Amino acid sequence: MSDIVELIKIELTLDSDCVCVKYDHENDCDLLDEKGNPIPEDSCLGCWEDALEEWKNYVYPEWIARNKITDRTKLVIEYSNVTWRNGSGAFQCQVRDLEDGRFGFLKGDFRITYTLEGKDLTARRSSHDEPTGAYFKFVVGRSKK
Ligand SMILES: [Zn+2]
Repeated sequence: MSDIVELIKIELTLDSDCVCVKYDHENDCDLLDEKGNPIPEDSCLGCWEDALEEWKNYVYPEWIARNKITDRTKLVIEYSNVTWRNGSGAFQCQVRDLEDGRFGFLKGDFRITYTLEGKDLTARRSSHDEPTGAYFKFVVGRSKK
């Protein structure tokens, strides 16, 4: 892998709410209402599954590849501004605990935006209790031999 590829910044958002919008297939763009806003689809077309597929098949393995780690590598998740208590701290898990895109203690509605910049993976989460956004940093430990 070349250095140039490694520097590409990737962003991916996982949203527990449906984000499907009506699509104008003739003009190949989102259909807009009279105010210029996208129009929600009547029923979900599978946006959560699509985003999760992109995470599992693209961003997650890309992060592993860039760090030359495995799914068993130890990981420390540093967090701040979490829940209405604005909690901060860190907890330990394994890389593979991130495979489902949610890392553990999530419940309720949320939106997570992952950013992979170079080798560094971070996430910003918005939810009902976290209107200003919680931050997560994923610090990779040494890989088990
Ligand atoms: Zn949807």
